[in-house]
Order: sequence, then C-alpha cells, then structure tokens
Amino acid sequence: MWTLEVKTSTREELKDITSQVQSLVKQEQLQEGVLLLYSPHTTCGITINEGADPAVARDIIQSLKKLIPLHWDYAHLEGNSDAHLKTSLIGPSQLIILEQGQIKLGTWQRIFLAEFDGPRNRKVWIKLLK
Ligand code: ZN
Repeated sequence: MWTLEVKTSTREELKDITSQVQSLVKQEQLQEGVLLLYSPHTTCGITINEGADPAVARDIIQSLKKLIPLHWDYAHLEGNSDAHLKTSLIGPSQLIILEQGQIKLGTWQRIFLAEFDGPRNRKVWIKLLK
C-alpha cells in the first residue's frame, strides 16, 4: 500500500490528484490491475469527474453547499456537520483500471480529492488489487 500526501488550500475544493496518482504508478512501475484509492478521513472524499472545465468542479462544490447548508439543526457540535454529510454523499473511495502501466480514465475525467473541511494535509491510501 502507498500513501499520497495531498495539501488542500481552502475549506471546500475539488483538488485534482490525477498527476500524483500517475507519478506513483510510474515510480512504482505498476502495470496491470485495479487501483483502490481510499480516503481515511471523515470530511473529505474521492471522486472522478470532468477536469477540462474547472467550472464543473466549482458547480459540484456550489451545488453541495446549496443541498447541505453550513448551519442547520445539526447535533454534532464540532461545527462541521455539513462536511461529514457531503463526504458521505461523495464517498471515501474510487477504483481505477490500470492497464499497460497507464491508469484508464475517460477523455475528460480527472481524479479529485473532495475537500469539505480544509485547508488541511490529507492522505490518500492506494492499494493495487490484482
Ligand atoms: Zn466533525
């Protein structure tokens, strides 16, 4: 298993980690299988979506803000219930096909760490499933 270190810079953002994943694949000379990307956090997740137009990432963040308000009748007293809820919607993991030393993504797809309670230093665990 490997760990990616990801530094986020705002409270909520989709941070593109595709090139970090590609660098790991190259560095470790991984060839075939499926990569499991897993976030061991409760207020950030991992998603795959369009990276060509940054407006898509912005729209995802803004839509989730509208769906799940920062302030509401939450019982969790830490003040970041919205971040926990958004993380559950996005989910903690993604599976990515690895073929001939390349991760397989659609033309417009990128891998994002979805930060909902940053800025923070995050980790992404990566395991090659064979
Ligand atoms: Zn909390």
